[in-house]
Amino acid sequence: MKDLILAQDGIFPITKGLNGESLTPKTGFAISGTIQGEGKLAGVPSLFIRLYGCNLNCAWKSSDNKVVRCDTPHAIDPHMTTEKWAVSSLLEVVKQNMGNMRHLVITGGEPLLQKSALVDFLREAKQWKSDLHVTIETNGTMFSASLCKYVDLFSVSPKLTSSNALGKKVSMDLVVENVGRYTLARLRNKIDLQLKFVISSLDDLNELEILFMDPLSHASDDDVLLMPMGIGDEAYQTLQNKVCEWAIERGWRFAPRLHLLLFGHTENT
Ligand code: SF4
Repeated sequence: MKDLILAQDGIFPITKGLNGESLTPKTGFAISGTIQGEGKLAGVPSLFIRLYGCNLNCAWKSSDNKVVRCDTPHAIDPHMTTEKWAVSSLLEVVKQNMGNMRHLVITGGEPLLQKSALVDFLREAKQWKSDLHVTIETNGTMFSASLCKYVDLFSVSPKLTSSNALGKKVSMDLVVENVGRYTLARLRNKIDLQLKFVISSLDDLNELEILFMDPLSHASDDDVLLMPMGIGDEAYQTLQNKVCEWAIERGWRFAPRLHLLLFGHTENT
């Protein structure tokens, strides 16, 4: 079995390490776990695993010309410390910290870059706890049919041109095709799906409505989420209200970031 490569402190928030040592979670709570901050399951108690590495390098420009970079630089920066975990050890730490939670969120970076080790891990995790709910957060540049068996919610966040993310590495056509695959997987395998688009302007909204017209026609309106790009400053407040209005107009969801209200920008909360 292959090992999984995690970002530093990539299983969080936890109070017990692999050898039973006590750890202090960054939430400031005395217990393991946090809440899912975004999307359909916002507010649901969850444990997170952050895999290292991404095939994109996102950077947006806000309306006041500030550059807003990827919000998890420690998961993509080649100079950052990483953690190598055997599947069995990682599962052991999950077991020790799950408490009464049943939601496990696999995030990144881009988790599907490690899809074969991830399949091994999730197979064992589901054998351990049959009601374990697994969310995978992905940028939609990749799809894996073999993962579908072990996933309850795919949270797909395709990056639009404004993220300056695609460069020459990944074509937008492929992302659109993959979003189509995710909508089909939802129908065939009864896996829940959310399509989460970061919106920085009306141009983004126009682009998503044109480019993703076909896959969106097969998705439920409840599965489409608009999330304002930004960092909680004045420009963000203005954009937030516009994005909320655009979401209501289309019958889609507005996606706030609940964890920012609770924990600010502290990593791994
Ligand atoms: S896809 Fe996500 S993790 Fe990767 S660079 Fe973009 S924002 Fe960061």
